[in-house]
Amino acid sequence: MNERSHDSLFLHADGDSFFVACELSQNPEYDGLPVVVGEDRGIAVAMSPEAKKLGVTRGMPVFQIKKEFPSVIILPHHFDLYRKISDGVYATLLSYLDRVEIYSIDECFAEVKMSDVRFFGSEKKLAMAIQHEIWQTFGVTYSIGIARTKALAKTASKLNKPSGVVILLNEFEEHEALKKTDVEDVWGIGRRTSPRLIQMGIHTAHDFIMYSSDHIERFFSEPLRVLQLELSGQSIHLIASCTDPRDQQSIQSTSTFRPPSNDPRIIWSELSDNAEHACARARELRLLTRSVSFFVKTTEFVHHFADAKLPVFTTDPGVVLNALEPYLSTVLVRGERIRSTGIILHALLREEDVPRDLFGRQDSAFAQLVIEKVADAVRTKFGRGALMRASSQKVSVHERGNSFPKRG
Ligand SMILES: [Mg+2]
Repeated sequence: MNERSHDSLFLHADGDSFFVACELSQNPEYDGLPVVVGEDRGIAVAMSPEAKKLGVTRGMPVFQIKKEFPSVIILPHHFDLYRKISDGVYATLLSYLDRVEIYSIDECFAEVKMSDVRFFGSEKKLAMAIQHEIWQTFGVTYSIGIARTKALAKTASKLNKPSGVVILLNEFEEHEALKKTDVEDVWGIGRRTSPRLIQMGIHTAHDFIMYSSDHIERFFSEPLRVLQLELSGQSIHLIASCTDPRDQQSIQSTSTFRPPSNDPRIIWSELSDNAEHACARARELRLLTRSVSFFVKTTEFVHHFADAKLPVFTTDPGVVLNALEPYLSTVLVRGERIRSTGIILHALLREEDVPRDLFGRQDSAFAQLVIEKVADAVRTKFGRGALMRASSQKVSVHERGNSFPKRG
């Protein structure tokens, strides 16, 4: 089979021990230790690989963990943090690929076009660039699979966890991957179906695709036959993304400094610049937000987050920065040097869907935005430096990553 017969591929990105990884991004001192999330729920919701190795399983009661595994660190869960990192990862994927589907809080599918591959040089380089940016920005690792179908991409991302990149481009590679995958671990094969398949002598995903399709069709439901086709390299499931960029939930802008700095003025000027970028993109799409966050990342890869609710829906960087400024001093710890910053606009709403309030505050916010839009027009005509917020003026130029627009 010609391995270049397809004109697009599928990517699956899967967070490694996601909830625990998010906690570790805030508490790196626990890195490498057995950590369980779920103290507040009374059961283990997520475990680090080290905790799994000890024997902690999902759903195990906290009192039992404390008794049987006293070395385990048990943390409460912080769903807002996971949501924020998840939003950011989605925005990162969107900065590389046009069609991205959120599958769960820590999983996304995306379409990979051959032009994307060419731009990076290979599928593997593309996957590694995405992985690297996610790690650099959020301090969590993702495993990535790229293959001819969604089911194969999902199989691939599992094969080399954590931080794995597995690319399946031809039938040989696919079959090797399927041989390593137990049938009960296949996406779409339920707990009730797998014992039946095992009884029929189907132990691996490879056994499953080699099994008579007539039998599968006769004795099982339609989705299982579709799965058999997908694992055999016939793409049936498409990316359920909205191609409309106005449907995106969040926009982010990040930057990395060289050299790192602990000067609050430099850090603030970066954040200010991040806010301008993110807001300009939102204005371009006529999207507004009331929910913003920022992060700073130290040279030790500690992430500090803060978020704020805005009084009105806006994309005025001044309003965003005013809301976030009080938190800057709370996230800057003495002595810590910052190597990157980012601003994320969350829960974006289309301009036409923004509710008007009784006191006209929203209307005056819109009026204020007209000024920013005029400034956008000036920048479009004379270049980005033509009009800049005073707080964004800075000493040197830094490497920048934005969730838009990709490349020329
Ligand atoms: Mg995961």
